[in-house]
Amino acid sequence: MKKQFKAESKRLLDLMINSIYTHKEIFLRELISNASDAIDKLHFISLTDTSIHLDSDSLAITIEVDEKKRQLIISDNGIGMDKKDLENNLGVIARSGSLEFKELFENDKADDIIGQFGVGFYSAFMVSKKVTVITRAYNSEIAYLWESSGQDGYSIKETEKETIGTRIILDLKDDAEDDNYSDYLKEYKIRDLIKKYSDYIRYPIKMMVNKSKLKEGSEDEYEDYQELDTLNSMIPLWKRNKSDIKEEEYNEFYKSKFNDYEDPSKVIHFNVEGNVSFNAMLFIPNRVPYNYYTKEYEKGLQLYSKNVFIMDKAKDLIPEHFRFVKGLVDSQDLSLNISRELLQHDRQLKVIASRIEKKIKSELLNMLNDEREKYEEFWKIFGVQIKYGVYNEFGANKELLQDLLLFVSSKEEKFVTLDEYVQRMTEDQSEIYYASGESVSKIAQLPQTEKVKDKGYEILYLTDEVDEFALQILMSYKDKKFKSISQGDLDLDSEEEKDKRSKIEAENKDLLEAIKENLKEKVKDVKISSRLKSHPVCLVADEGLSMEMEKVLNNLPEGPGMKAEKILEINSDHPIFAALKKVQEDSPEELADYSDLLYDQALLIEGFSIEDPLAFSSKLCDLMVKANK
Ligand code: ADP
Repeated sequence: MKKQFKAESKRLLDLMINSIYTHKEIFLRELISNASDAIDKLHFISLTDTSIHLDSDSLAITIEVDEKKRQLIISDNGIGMDKKDLENNLGVIARSGSLEFKELFENDKADDIIGQFGVGFYSAFMVSKKVTVITRAYNSEIAYLWESSGQDGYSIKETEKETIGTRIILDLKDDAEDDNYSDYLKEYKIRDLIKKYSDYIRYPIKMMVNKSKLKEGSEDEYEDYQELDTLNSMIPLWKRNKSDIKEEEYNEFYKSKFNDYEDPSKVIHFNVEGNVSFNAMLFIPNRVPYNYYTKEYEKGLQLYSKNVFIMDKAKDLIPEHFRFVKGLVDSQDLSLNISRELLQHDRQLKVIASRIEKKIKSELLNMLNDEREKYEEFWKIFGVQIKYGVYNEFGANKELLQDLLLFVSSKEEKFVTLDEYVQRMTEDQSEIYYASGESVSKIAQLPQTEKVKDKGYEILYLTDEVDEFALQILMSYKDKKFKSISQGDLDLDSEEEKDKRSKIEAENKDLLEAIKENLKEKVKDVKISSRLKSHPVCLVADEGLSMEMEKVLNNLPEGPGMKAEKILEINSDHPIFAALKKVQEDSPEELADYSDLLYDQALLIEGFSIEDPLAFSSKLCDLMVKANK
């Protein structure tokens, strides 16, 4: 009986069958990689399940060619599949849940899907009219035959198979003008493809090949014979000498193993000898993985022990702040039958994890120092993660991470490190200034920045939600405290200026009190500003919660209700101040509206929304009408 593929799988199949993708040859890599995974799984189970007797020398992937039937056959003696596995694994596409995938799908972007997601088993349909899977699970006597010619569904029936494992038979498509599918029956082509994509596979990939030799007793007569050749070197890439590995090999390895379509931005390949010895090969992706911000994304490194695969995502090997790093670790010092639970407590593993963390950090620092542009690109992709790392766990990792931080600053609106900032602080500057806002251009316009910049002080512009939280946890860098230009006292004035301000404040006590009274619910205080130059008003927060933090926290489910204590500051050098004084003298009843207007303006300047835009507008109109009576 024919069964239909799940809707999305069916569409994917359509795309595969009609694909004009130029790299159809990757189907072989995908099938071999599945075969190798299947052997890994069986090998791993056999370590704890004593009922399985594996001769590890016999583990292999075999390729057979039948030129007459135009068939290419790939077999493995791995874990195999039972009927349910076949339904679940080959009847649906696993990745269909991701949004990005769906979007590509709806727009029929077959090339992007194949390139970005590597569609595994289904890629067989790019080169085959029909695909037959004969498989027997390791714990079953019954074998099954799965068969599909594509769109019209698939069928599963019982069959016989002597050995455990999976045999995949591809009936190749007929040759077309641009696609010579017969190539995949040729020994040289298969050799090429294995070298290119699957050389490092740990199990032998064997193929019966034609050879010829001198006939016995003859000096010039040759005879043909066949011999089973192993096509791959089987040396895992990470075990090879660094200097012998070409960049392209790293890149291909990364892309096929970690499902990316872009080369990594950095490869970190190193070897540690000592109490705990291991090999590690780490990659920093050049883009945010498609599911990075979803629950689906699992951090972790592949773990091998003496070349034997142990698990796919050993999450304890990678700290949260470097969770974007992909790669693998191979150590001869780990016990083979280590379970996930035990792994957490494994001392050796902790040592490895700590070395890896240090190595990633030092490599990132090297990149920052030697390849600044590249680092800035990296920072744009994963910087937020590192900033969260500073903030998380109450700052437990802040010292480790602080030198990796970059912020845009007022100097040239370029990225600076904290060290660079401190290096160029002026002599009379004692604090590291920062300002927060939605974008660099909006922060640059904040009234509060004017005077600070005039003094020659540089300001860090914080645009990510996490930024202020990270700086608060850091508290200081090289003994210089972080200081928001929109919070508390800035202390920019000379003694003389301070005296002048106290005097003005004393003289206008009543006015300030009156405004404060009008804004009772909204502000904690109204003051003459020491930080404004050409602008009339600004809002600042008292020490403690900043206004930017208020914004962030109020967006969290547990946040609403958190309020920064706001202070309205007025520029006594601005004509508005004289106007306010006049209003207070001539028509004090109007001061309430003036106060509201001032406050709302300050909110707007800060990038907040105002509570009652209608009231704001009508008060403003009244004023405009009055001015023209
Ligand atoms: P992926 O390998 O990315 O999970 P595939 O479409 O290539 O996606 O394969 C789907 C699933 O089918 C695999 O996860 C595996 O469980 C199963 N599978 C594929 N090939 C084999 C095989 N040769 N032996 C055993 N299981 C296999």
